[in-house]
Amino acid sequence: MIRPTVVAGNWKMHGSRDSARTLARAIVQGVEDDASREVLLCPPFVHLFDVLEETVQSPVQVGAQNVGDQPEGAYTGEVSVAMLAELGCSHVIIGHSERRHVYGEPDELIGRKFALLHQSAQQDLPNAPRAILCVGETLEEREAGRTLDVIHRQLQPVRSFPDAFPRALIAYEPVWAIGTGVAATPDMAQEVHAAIRAHLEQELGAAAQDTVVLYGGSVKAGNASELFAMPDIDGGLIGGASLKADEFLAICQAMRK
Ligand code: PEP
Repeated sequence: MIRPTVVAGNWKMHGSRDSARTLARAIVQGVEDDASREVLLCPPFVHLFDVLEETVQSPVQVGAQNVGDQPEGAYTGEVSVAMLAELGCSHVIIGHSERRHVYGEPDELIGRKFALLHQSAQQDLPNAPRAILCVGETLEEREAGRTLDVIHRQLQPVRSFPDAFPRALIAYEPVWAIGTGVAATPDMAQEVHAAIRAHLEQELGAAAQDTVVLYGGSVKAGNASELFAMPDIDGGLIGGASLKADEFLAICQAMRK
């Protein structure tokens, strides 16, 4: 199996129902139908239904930006795996740096979300969203030479649930590159991606080659091709640049074939 390339737009907390529909419609109109190059949109929870309607019968997939760590119950403000599956979400981002660093989500909580997604898919919800597990170091951690230690720690779900891959995806997102306009250079990103791939190989064996590892952090139309040309970068998780249809479609065009 040759792993697909994927470009995922993380719309964060932007837009209205109207603007979400308009953006989704423009992306559906511009996207190529190519099963080896996947396009995914992750709008805010309350816009999921609108975006799912706009993308129905198109190759564009729709995912969520977060999920609760419990199957159901008295958890005010949370959204469950089953709810996302029922709606038709194909993927869910977990452990995004804004969840880790702005909302203080620890590795243990992210690990429980990963476990629940994996167990749901194996047991009663074969259509449970696929996890996109985000990992990445802060500037301080990079400067202290701790990048790979941090990433290995954040990759604990790989060791706990090796059979969750290649269904689950990984996104390497250096925190210092997210929303700053300063992307990692292709060589810097490839170095970490190669280390992630080596870790996957050690833990998963052959499934490592089938596991999609995305890069995220200030990807734009202007730098996407050189990042995506790297052998271990299988596409991108795109924040700011996913909010403009033309820019996002140009990034999709840059995916490796
Ligand atoms: C992100 O939010 O995952 C991200 C990569 O943001 P940006 O592309 O804006 O840096």
